Amino acid sequence: MLALLVISIVACQTDSRVGGITLPYRDPALPVEQRVDDLLSRMTLAEKVGQMTQANVASLGRLSDVAALGLGSVLSGGDDSPTPNTPVAWADQLDGLQRLALSTRLSIPLLYGIDSVHGFSHAVGTTIFPHNIGLGATRDAGLVQEIGRITALEMAGTGIRWAFAPCLAVVQNERWGRTYESFGQDPDLVSSMTSLIDGLQGGDLRLPTSIIATAKHFVGDGGTTGGRDQGDTLVDEADLRTVHMEPYRAAIARDAQAVMVSYSSWNGQKMHGNRRMITDTLKGELGFNGIVVSDWDGIAQLGGGYDDQVRQAINAGIDVVMTPTGYARFAGALQRAVLDGAIPMARIDDAVRRIVSVKFRMGLFERPYAPREYLAYDGSAENRAVARRAVRESLVLLKNDGGILPLPRTIKRLLVVGKNADNLGNQLGGWSLTWQGLSGAGTRGTTILQGIRDAVSRDTQVVYDPARIEGDYDAAIAVVGETPYAEFHGDRPGSLSLDAADSIVMDRLQSAGIPTVAVIVSGRPLVITDRLPQWKALVEAWLPGTEGAGVAEVLFGAYKPTGRLPVSWPRSEAQVPVAGGSSAASPLFPYGFGLSYL
Ligand code: BGC
Ligand code: BGC
Repeated sequence: MLALLVISIVACQTDSRVGGITLPYRDPALPVEQRVDDLLSRMTLAEKVGQMTQANVASLGRLSDVAALGLGSVLSGGDDSPTPNTPVAWADQLDGLQRLALSTRLSIPLLYGIDSVHGFSHAVGTTIFPHNIGLGATRDAGLVQEIGRITALEMAGTGIRWAFAPCLAVVQNERWGRTYESFGQDPDLVSSMTSLIDGLQGGDLRLPTSIIATAKHFVGDGGTTGGRDQGDTLVDEADLRTVHMEPYRAAIARDAQAVMVSYSSWNGQKMHGNRRMITDTLKGELGFNGIVVSDWDGIAQLGGGYDDQVRQAINAGIDVVMTPTGYARFAGALQRAVLDGAIPMARIDDAVRRIVSVKFRMGLFERPYAPREYLAYDGSAENRAVARRAVRESLVLLKNDGGILPLPRTIKRLLVVGKNADNLGNQLGGWSLTWQGLSGAGTRGTTILQGIRDAVSRDTQVVYDPARIEGDYDAAIAVVGETPYAEFHGDRPGSLSLDAADSIVMDRLQSAGIPTVAVIVSGRPLVITDRLPQWKALVEAWLPGTEGAGVAEVLFGAYKPTGRLPVSWPRSEAQVPVAGGSSAASPLFPYGFGLSYL
């Protein structure tokens, strides 16, 4: 089967120009619909199936499989970066794959997708913004749009035109490992932050700096029982719609070109097989006309044998299947299913129409290669300045006894401690250079400690040494919290309190009697009620990204804190989840809480 397929796609010469005449689908002067009709009429089943198949670049058996199977798109998974991991290497990789795609009979260009969930965070040297939870705290939709624009500009030079962002999960349980990928617990807040889509996609999709956005994960990902990743969201349809589906309306109104289906289930049924939600509701009722893409190997979680999984997913309305390693098997199974009548040809045509429509709208046929002139945007000082502003705006001041903050720049002796004080990787969190993220310095940026050193006066003595938690300091800044994680690795069904290392630091600060400002770097609220009386001030910094200086600028009063909680803050483990509002008890800090300076 595979051999036949190879012949059908590759053996013929590129025939997009016949007798020197440009075929209608290649004519940019014609309306998109006409080009789509023309292209569709020329495509074989194998070519159509190829468009619906998305492989992981690092999992390609041979690079030439891109041409052999006529793949419509590829992605790079969280751990899959070229070596060296520079923007230029990404551009080279894209161009190489694009050449293969364009060598096929119809020369349909390839779409390349990547998880730019807080900047072009796969590559070294780029600007990495706060994760969504911090952006939710800013309440600043205009800023978030600007972040989308910068992310697009930093990606543009590589030729990668598809971002698997924004995540529109409406988090209801902070135990969920993806809490930080959510803008917050409130559907209106999340909807307002779909301005990121305007930024990513730009004003005109045809420009090479316009990156298509993906609203994910449809639908109910943030509502699973126990906050279990990929779990089951047990709510009635009214709740599913008002809490979890609402942001998709906003995303579609902003013309998001893709929607990714959630791994999770709704009332026991996997979303990847839910025809009523994907086809009837998303595409029908909500009028979504872009690409529905599966999640990474998401169809493998459907019941039945492989062929049956393929049938369920495609008939449910999925247009592109992200099948990182099993791409050849998928293409074979999909062709068989159509030939056997298990999947109607009309469904295939609907999928391919959506896929190539997006490619035409983007001008991909006209400009398939990396426009390298844009590589200059990566990690520029201007972009970092916007990220630093985002950090400042994302900080939430939760306590400030006796107005200890802002600290005077001229403070004499300042102690800085905590595992997140001087650790760029911990500031970045997951989805940064790698899938799970890494502690330490893997890219360029400023740690919170460096920011503090830059903010204080020349006469200030900054001591950063856990062995010196003793003696007389005017104040201590303790930067504690979580270390990087992504997806299910970050689920915390157990304790949500500070870890052992942080607890030791806090105990010692308390016995030394040093006035302490706690700064928490974390993807979610932690349970810190017992510790709170020991601290003069508490600032939640979320996962700020590469520009740690933004934290120091607020601590030392160059700017006032303006952030407000995007999720309620639990008083105790027993009270979790308070995000969902299910708990009648009063949280430690309610949704929307945030102090400022006088
Ligand atoms: C995640 C998606 C992501 C995809 C590709 C999946 O595991 O759930 O959010 O876009 O991987 O990396
Ligand atoms: C990939 C991620 C993906 C995850 C899914 C990882 O190996 O790098 O992109 O989301 O697998 O489980």
